[in-house]
Order: sequence, then C-alpha cells, then structure tokens
Amino acid sequence: MDCMRQDGILHISLLNGQARAILIESTGLVQRARDIHGLSKIATAALGRTLTATAMMGSMLKGKDESVTASIRGGGPIGTVLAVSDANCAVKGYVDNPAVDLPRTGPKLPVGAAVGREGRLTVIKDLKLREPYVGQVNLVSGEIAEDFAMYFTASEQTPSLVSLGVLVSKERVESAGGLIVQMLPDASEAAIQSVEASAGMFMDISGTMKEYHLEGAVDQLLMHLQPQILERRDARYACDCSRQRVEKALITLGRDELNDMIATQHGAKVDCHFCNKRYVFSEDDLKRLLASATAPAK
Ligand SMILES: [Zn+2]
Repeated sequence: MDCMRQDGILHISLLNGQARAILIESTGLVQRARDIHGLSKIATAALGRTLTATAMMGSMLKGKDESVTASIRGGGPIGTVLAVSDANCAVKGYVDNPAVDLPRTGPKLPVGAAVGREGRLTVIKDLKLREPYVGQVNLVSGEIAEDFAMYFTASEQTPSLVSLGVLVSKERVESAGGLIVQMLPDASEAAIQSVEASAGMFMDISGTMKEYHLEGAVDQLLMHLQPQILERRDARYACDCSRQRVEKALITLGRDELNDMIATQHGAKVDCHFCNKRYVFSEDDLKRLLASATAPAK
C-alpha cells in the first residue's frame, strides 16, 4: 500500500558533478502533520510544502547536532508557518491557523492567498557555533517553492530550482515530494542550459511521486542530466519535546512569572506546538522549579 511506503531523501550528482539535486518523498510525514494538527486542505499544502523543503535543508547539514528552522510570515489568514529539521531529517512544524479555508479560484489550492505575500521567509541554522546563521528574504508569492528558491539564490548565493508539491484529498495526503536542483560553482554554460531545459519536468512533483515514488522519480525527472545517486536517507515527522525541556523553558521565564503562575493558576499546562503533547505542572512542581530558578549557577 502507498501509505506504508517510507519517506526518503536522495542526494544526487548531476552532469558529472556540475550540478546536484536533492529529491524527497514526504507523503508520510505530511500525513502525520495533518493528523497531529487537524489541518485543513490548504493548511496541509502550506505546512506540507514547508516541511518538505525544510527536511531537504536538514539533509544538507553537516554536523549531527545541527538544525534548521524555516518560518514564513506573509500576513495571510494562515498566520505563521514554521518547520524545523535536524540533520537526520526528523522534521516537525505547525501553522498558527490549522483550519484556514479559502475558496478555490483555479485548479490548485490557493496556498499563496492563505500564506500572504507581504512578509518574509526566515531561515535559522543552528550550526552549534556561538551565533546561529540567519538568512531572510522577502516573499515572492507565498506559494513557498518560489520563496525558497529566492532564499537559496539571494541569501545563500546558490542559484536553485525548487519544486514542492502536496496532493491532498478530503481523506488523506495522496502524495508529497520536493526537488531542489543547484548549479555548482564550476558548472559550464552547457550544463546550465541542460538543467534549464529539464526544468519543465520538475513542476508536477506530487504527481510524479504518486506515480513513480522516490527511486522511480529520479529517472522520470532527471534522466537527461546523468543522475548518480550519492546517498539515501530516511525522513520522518518527529518531535523531541520532553518534560525536562519544558521545565527548562519554565525556569527561564524567571521568578516573577513562576510566582505569578503559582498565585493565579496554582499550576501550569504547557502544550507542545509541534506534537500537541500536554505537560501538566502542579503548584508543588512549580515551587520546585522556583527553587532551581534561584539556585546559584553551577
Ligand atoms: Zn512535542
């Protein structure tokens, strides 16, 4: 069955190393996001495209503790769309308004109208250095693939083609996938032209994934570009929240905030944005945290 297929990411060399492609099948992880958040069809497409792009960016990270966060704020009714991936392609995300719905004006879901076009795509890479790397671009269309393409080209100075697709029916995510093609610095003019000539094939990525799946899509999409698969990895939706992490976050709120919670709410309920897991703290729990908040630094 299709739904039992495992998501995966391929890193592919093109044209004898003059370009590279990253190809992902993300049907399962987008379905998981839809189930967790109860996403409308438009929200499934918007968050699904963002998760798909972010998982591909996660696969480009070098160190295993590194992570990448992409957030899109376009001023539209969906609010913020945010996704995080670690270097193992464990991805998670959320949207502010999971129920967003807009009338369809053409054959495609109006993702750009839901996201909005007056705002920015921000990419934060935590490379475990003193400061994270932050890149930002103005949105092109709010359709997300074009916005990521602009990010790679303008902020990372790597001209890139980006295709993202989520095919969603009333019942389920039928297919989802993405492709990033990047020219490498020593690419010849002929290589650039070959990639541009193939670009038309990249557009219907969800349709291609539905029919051919990950390995089959390589031939289907990249056959004219001498594809050589370098690496295959799994991708999945996963949240790494824990009671310990939530405790740390509560402690960093500070004494005043904790005292206020104890006095007015006699406890605290904290819901994880990414997996909806609820952490409940009693008054005594909070008093214990208050003690650590006052403890001298070790
Ligand atoms: Zn969580």
